Amino acid sequence: MINWFEQYHSSAFISDLIKTQTHLFVAEEGIGANQLLENLLKKLLCENLTDENKTCNTCPSCRYLVDEHPNIRLIDKNLELKSDVITIDQIRELSSFIELASTSEHDKKIIFIKNTHYLTSSAANALLKNLEEPPNNTFFILLTSNLHKILPTIRSRATIHKLASPTNKQCEDYLKDEHPEAIKFLDLAERKPFLAIQMANNKELINSIVNIFLRGKSFDMMDVNESLLASGPQFFVDMMQKWIADLAHFKEFSTVYYYKNLLDQIELISNQLSYKELLNFYKKLIEYRRLSETTINKSIALDNLMIDYKRTFA
Ligand SMILES: [Zn+2]
Repeated sequence: MINWFEQYHSSAFISDLIKTQTHLFVAEEGIGANQLLENLLKKLLCENLTDENKTCNTCPSCRYLVDEHPNIRLIDKNLELKSDVITIDQIRELSSFIELASTSEHDKKIIFIKNTHYLTSSAANALLKNLEEPPNNTFFILLTSNLHKILPTIRSRATIHKLASPTNKQCEDYLKDEHPEAIKFLDLAERKPFLAIQMANNKELINSIVNIFLRGKSFDMMDVNESLLASGPQFFVDMMQKWIADLAHFKEFSTVYYYKNLLDQIELISNQLSYKELLNFYKKLIEYRRLSETTINKSIALDNLMIDYKRTFA
């Protein structure tokens, strides 16, 4: 169990949850909110919760995975589109699901919207119509990492739950039991344990990215290729922003935030660059981040970025 979410597993919380039909959960990404909510949905639909308030794992409902469950509609950003949005069509498709009235208490229907801040304004307004008069036994569970991007009209209709991020100790205790190999990624993951787990699962990718950073101006452009973007351009930029931030931070304070196990190498590289050069490159990174959300040719954009990185050392 995710120990920092303990209070949300109590039977009191579950019975509170069904008193109102629209809930907005606010949580930082990477702290396990998706896992918590999927578990809560399964509890809401389970026909025989155990005495410890766990799902029975045997009733008809428990046999389904959340994303295949006939009583759950899961909505997330539209993967077919290049930009991060939830479209009005995705919300309109809910109507047949919502209109089919549920007949019994075990026939609860749940709409689970991940990344609710990606709703376009027309999609948000369409959703609002559903929230104004939800049919009996129909629940809207909304999740966001960005509360200020949610329409005030949606916020005011929802019960808001702000999920606290884990403390350092909670992160480490959880990972020690579940994913010990992820502990060393906690700094790079900014103390977000599920991001650390994702990083541990991608450690070969992370190694090849970091190896290029470490070589300063002497890395081989042949090693810069699309495989570095295997977890997406945003992931790559994020790693590089943290790298540059560490180089800059080291210049002033002789410590780093993210790549703590590379302190010696960071000292060497940081000494080759001026603060101004680092800042200039950082600006290019921000530009690349914006470009990579829209551009079709991601590998050319990456090549250009890495040529700039090389030049920074010239
Ligand atoms: Zn069950």
